[in-house]
This record gives sequence, C-alpha cells and structure tokens, in this order.
Amino acid sequence: MKKLLLFTFFITAMGFGQNSSYWQQHVDYTMEVDMNVENFKYTGTQKLIYTNNSPDDLTRVYYHLYFNAFQPGSEMDMRLQNIADPDRRMTNEDKSSRIADLTESEIGYLHPTSLKQDGVAVTYNEEGTVLIVNLAKPIPSGGKTTFEMEFKGQVPVQIRRSGRNNKDGVALSMSQWYPKLAEYDFEGWHADPYIAREFHGVWGDFDVKLTIAKDYIVGGTGYLQNPQEIGHGYETDGTKVKRPRGKTLTWHFKAPMVHDFMWAADPEYVHDTLQMENGPTLHFLYKNDPKFAETWKAVQPLTEKAMNFFSKNIGEYPYDQYSVIQGGDGGMEYAMATLITGGDKPGSVIGTMIHELAHSWFQHVLATNEAKHEWMDEGFTSFISALCSNEIRAQNKDNPFENSYKGYYYLVNSGKEQPQATHADRYDSNSPYGISAYSKGAIFLSQLGYVVGQEKLMETVRKYYSDFKFKHPVPNDIKRTAEKVSGLELDWYLTDWTKTTNTIDYSIKEVSADGNASKITMERIGLMPMPIDILVLYKDGTQETFYAPLRMMRGEKDNPYPNLKRTVLEDWPWTNPSYGFTVNRPLEDIKGIMIDPSLLMADVNLENNTWKPKAMPKD
Ligand SMILES: [Zn+2]
Repeated sequence: MKKLLLFTFFITAMGFGQNSSYWQQHVDYTMEVDMNVENFKYTGTQKLIYTNNSPDDLTRVYYHLYFNAFQPGSEMDMRLQNIADPDRRMTNEDKSSRIADLTESEIGYLHPTSLKQDGVAVTYNEEGTVLIVNLAKPIPSGGKTTFEMEFKGQVPVQIRRSGRNNKDGVALSMSQWYPKLAEYDFEGWHADPYIAREFHGVWGDFDVKLTIAKDYIVGGTGYLQNPQEIGHGYETDGTKVKRPRGKTLTWHFKAPMVHDFMWAADPEYVHDTLQMENGPTLHFLYKNDPKFAETWKAVQPLTEKAMNFFSKNIGEYPYDQYSVIQGGDGGMEYAMATLITGGDKPGSVIGTMIHELAHSWFQHVLATNEAKHEWMDEGFTSFISALCSNEIRAQNKDNPFENSYKGYYYLVNSGKEQPQATHADRYDSNSPYGISAYSKGAIFLSQLGYVVGQEKLMETVRKYYSDFKFKHPVPNDIKRTAEKVSGLELDWYLTDWTKTTNTIDYSIKEVSADGNASKITMERIGLMPMPIDILVLYKDGTQETFYAPLRMMRGEKDNPYPNLKRTVLEDWPWTNPSYGFTVNRPLEDIKGIMIDPSLLMADVNLENNTWKPKAMPKD
C-alpha cells in the first residue's frame, strides 16, 4: 500500500510535463471475476470510475470486447481468410482459418449483461468487438462518472495471444479478457475493432479480485494483496499460509498506473522468484515439465541483466514487480508482465524475453497508440533490445541492427512497402507490416543516431522516457525530443521516414585529380535527403573524414570519429542532385572513399557508396 501512495504522489507531482495543453483520460477499475475452469466460462462485475480530462463533453463511450473476435465470421476471421499471408498460428495446415472451425463451446465471447451509469441503466449495443454506449447523461469536461457493468465471457480455444489450453498446455492465457474502455484523446475515440493486432488503453488503477479453483497458480499484472491467504510461492519465505475453506481461492491484485491487465493461470505452474538488488521482484511461472526447466532457469538471470540494462539506458523501471509467464502463442507484452511460449531452446526464449521486457518501456510506460504508430513500440523495442542482447549476451556485433537493415532493404526491393504511418491493420499483408514496424521502426532510432550522433541519440531516448512516461506520446514527441537534445531541425526526417516510402541512395559519382588535390563528386539519387559522412583512406594508412551537413537541419552533429580529423564542409541543400568537395591530397594518394562507414544510414544501394582507384595496367 505504501508503494501505491508514493506512486500516486509521484504522478501528481510530475504533472503533465512541459506541454500544458496535453490531457489524458483516467480510469479506476474495480473488478470481481469468477472463473469456471471446467467450461472456461466466467462472470464478472466491473465498477469503472471514468474521469473526463478532455475539453469535451462526452455523450457516448466505447468499450472493447476483444474476445468476440474469436468467432466464425468475425472481422478478425474475415481478415484472416482474405489476407495473402495469414499468421500461421491462426490457420490450419491448408492455410484455412482456425477461427472458422470454432464450435459454440470453443469460441470466445464477452458480453455485458447490464450496464448502469451513476445508477441509471444505459442503452448499448455490440458491433463485433466494440460496445457502443449511449450515455444516460453527458460526462462534462472535467467531470467523473461511474459505470457499473455485469458481464459474462467464454475463453476461446487458443487462437492468438489469449485463450485456453495453448500448445504448451497452459490452461488460461487471459489477455484482453475484460470489457476495456476505449481511449479518447486529442484525436477523438480509438475504438478500433480487434482485427489482427495492436492495443491502446486508458491509463488508470486496477483492483481485481479473481476467484478460481484452489489448485490454479496465477501470475500477471498487479501486486497480490493477500499472499498469505494464497501461498503458491507468493507468501513471505518461511511463513505459514492460512487459506480459507472451500474449493476456490480469491486472488486480489492491485495495479497502479497501467493501461491493461493480464493474467494467466495453470495448476501445473512452477513459480520461481528473484529479488533484484534495489530493483523489482521478478516472477517466473512455467509448466512443471522437464522439457521447459532448463530454458526457464536460464532465462532468470538474463531477465535481471536485461532489467538493469533498460533501466540504465532508458530510465528506471517504475514498478516493483515483473513476471515472465509461460502462456500465449509466441511472445506478447503486457503491463508488468509478459506471456511467452515455453520452447525447448533457451536462446529463443531469452531473445523473446528481452524483447517483451523492453516493451515495458516502449508501450507499457510510453504508451503509444500501437494501431497508428506501430513503429514506435515495435521499432523502438527492437532497437533497444538489439543493444541489450549485444551487451548482456556478449554478442559483440559491430552493427547490432544489421538484421533490421537487411529486412528493410528486402522490403524496399519487394515493392510492397507502405508508409509507416499506415494503420497496423491496413497493410496489404502481414509481412510489410512486420518489417515496417519492427525493422524500419528500429532503424528510425539507429539511423537517428547517425543523424544527430550516438550520444545525443541515447540522451534523446532517456529524455523521451522521462518527459512522456505514463502518457501517450506521438511521433512528433520523439522528433521534438531529438531536436531539443541535438539542436538540429528534424521535421524532414520524421516526415520522409515515417509518412512516405522515399528511399535514401547517395553515390560517389566521380573522383578526379585537381592539380595537387582531388575533387570528389557525390550524387543524391534517392528522394530522401541525409547529411553525409565521408571517410577517405590514404595509401600511407592514414584516414580522415568529411561531413556534408544537410542545409535544412540548420546545424551539425558532433564528430562521430573523434580520433580522426574531420572537415565540416559547406551545407548540401537537398535540391542539388550533386555536390562536390576537394581533398587536399593528390589522387594517387587515395586508397578508397566511403560514404557512411557506420552503415547506419539506410542507403538502399550500398554498391555506389564506395570508390576505389582503378587498377593501373602494368607496363
Ligand atoms: Zn514487440
């Protein structure tokens, strides 16, 4: 409890940062849920206090009813049946939809059975995965209202992310399981139907009481309030657990300042804990099966290392708990926890854990709207987890983002690229979405490091976290943060990279003798402009660099190679297709010239980035 109070104080004291026009809605959920583990049906009550911090009076609200997606004929099913490259987890061998096969007792559903606003019944209707509620009375700007709902649900056979009896035999993976109020922000309502992926929620506090068969072990979002009644590894070491009589246990969780609440349960979970020094308690819940044991022991010390890495490089993890739980159908991030499938190879589970844990920062604290800005959570997560893996798994790669660049170049060459600003559900197919969000999204940051310098990049990441934690940052926020840190103008970077499919292609067009000096001519072939680093190698083994700033950046980055002499050249206005400069050494001295030796600039044709003297015919 003490922690909760401190936390609330912290948020209030922080205010909403430097942008005084920023506002966000707030929710306080109190839920009591009964789960029947025989038929996977559940009932619940939900009291939701909704604070309208918007400047608008609201006459309508929306809820997500995500489990309704797992029904034949749903929007998710139709999309699955009509997309060129359906997710293999969701299809049979012949690529047909697994959702279409679900029987009455296997489908998922979530339906309100009554709903009141401040004690008055309201009318509502369901449209697939979205509940539309016409309010009894408007919620004025700055006002609060209380919704009281009764609901019933059925957990679907595992299709994607959540469900019952997944491949590893985990009984219950409960994500997106409760009636979840949609977010309303400066753009209006975000009541996206559940079609493929990506979530967005309202920040708030959760109080959840879950009643389930006594032998089930539960893990997930939130701090357990009654560990001495529950036991199952949550009790204080060496103390006696006093369980109430009966066939069930009621687990009481509280989660402060989260925008989602996930839980998972299985009667065969092993529950290990690791108390970090000056850090959160880590929980590991996994099936008691020898084939998972090695992996799930190996993942534990790495989780601690990854937690330390992210806290140091992004900002301190703000909760007292994080749980790595076997469940779901791959890896998926949730508030204070992740669901990961078991796997018999430690390497892949550790890699997934690092990625999902990184989402605790880039999604569960910096809560971007994933549907609209999928590259900000998946891409930034991929960026920081590549750095983390490189360090804590001692991979020592020269370019830890190499695979992201390869993926991006593949996408460009495929001709199927769509702008990153595309809604996550409306890419033509899954593959361009994935590469755009994860790989091109990671490059947004790694390449930003090329543009503003590596130190400024990491300073940008830390300031972005500290300015926008517990909010909903948008693309402009990361750009403005980088601008403030670097002093450079970066609107062109955000626009070209995220809203267009413009590509970068610079070449060394010509190198010629100019008396005792040499003249180098470069060409901009791609439409997206960049500042250019050039490395010149001499036959005597020395090297120096040149820097052609992009005029519209209105400034220069620090020398990225402080051990080498750097010459800052004239600005390159992007409209000039070619650009020349002089090196004060004769042509015969030059061994080679290279544009961007860091390879962090995503130049789609690397072949024309280098120049070497032609071999002279021997006489
Ligand atoms: Zn991810």
